[in-house]
Amino acid sequence: MANVTLRDVRKTYPSGFEAIKGIGLEVGDGQFCVLVGPSGCGKSTLLRMVAGLETITGGQIDIGGRIVNQVEPAERDIAMVFQNYALYPHMSVYNNMAYGLRNRGMREPEIDSRVQEAARILELGAMLDRKPGQLSGGQRQRVAMGRAIVRQPKVFLFDEPLSNLDAKLRIAMRVEIRKLQRRLNTTSIYVTHDQLEAMTLADILVVMNGGQVEQIGNPLEIYQKPATSFVASFIGAPPMNLWPLRAGDIRSQIEGIGGMAREAGLLGVRPEDFEISSDVITGGIALELAVEAIERVGAETFIYGARRDGAQGVAANLGELSPGDVIVRIQGAIAPAIGARIRAVAPREKLHLFSADGRQRIEF
Ligand code: ATP
Repeated sequence: MANVTLRDVRKTYPSGFEAIKGIGLEVGDGQFCVLVGPSGCGKSTLLRMVAGLETITGGQIDIGGRIVNQVEPAERDIAMVFQNYALYPHMSVYNNMAYGLRNRGMREPEIDSRVQEAARILELGAMLDRKPGQLSGGQRQRVAMGRAIVRQPKVFLFDEPLSNLDAKLRIAMRVEIRKLQRRLNTTSIYVTHDQLEAMTLADILVVMNGGQVEQIGNPLEIYQKPATSFVASFIGAPPMNLWPLRAGDIRSQIEGIGGMAREAGLLGVRPEDFEISSDVITGGIALELAVEAIERVGAETFIYGARRDGAQGVAANLGELSPGDVIVRIQGAIAPAIGARIRAVAPREKLHLFSADGRQRIEF
């Protein structure tokens, strides 16, 4: 077991492209850290640097108290699980799991006991003689996990391991991975572009964008208090509604905001924080909407509304809003008709405010 510490880690590819622009991160012993962000944000590069598969052009990586910048991947005491499984097609499940251990010169009785134990944990016992081609996608992914487990590494590294699976199996495997990680209590770093996967797996969530960290923290804290407008729109689905506010609106209408709001800002409300109500509200926001589209997904319904005049509340004067830019998420399947007029309200404590460039959260 081990801590993983990154200090001002940087990567510039030989082409001159700066993929990682200085990242610091501390993953405690046994913690599950998830790197999440849009395609191209550098999360795979960062994971591969921890693995030693990619060189580091600046900073330090420390695994278990040892700086590993110059240490070969095989000597880092890590095990990696890839999206494409990377199994040997001509070898049985058993031999796929045993291969790395044999390469290290481990004795057969020890190899057998580790493979049997991993097979038991992963429920692969009946499949040890099969070849990967005779397995389903989920079973292959479990073999890939088994190969990592038998190594008994200090750290597991996962690179989008569930991306090749269908939606249902993804959820099942997500739960399996979390249970397994808790049971083995092995420090883990996991890369995904799926915000839901990230939210549900992480002890520590790292939201990345453009080679930098936007926010690090507990997933629920990040959902409740996104540090930037990027995080606000990336974490949570459907995304947070964000509108430009004119400076005068903020100063005059949101109490207690003081000197923070000299410049125009962005106002955010999560779709699930709206309620359809005719109540008079104080300190929050009320929007008159014309319903443009409805999406029923069973337990809940998404309403896409165009704003009509008559917004009220502390942030009443919202500046220019284009039609169709308000999403309201309600429980249940009973929804207004297309074209109906509704009133969506959110209390003050559910409003989010950011600086005009979105880089700073403003508490008020
Ligand atoms: P995805 O989810 O699409 O895999 P990612 O966040 O994992 O994205 P990376 O694969 O880490 O992104 O790539 C980060 C950036 O570095 C991208 O803009 C990519 O084009 C660039 N990049 C990756 N490998 C190289 C390379 N060998 N040379 C130059 N640029 C590279």
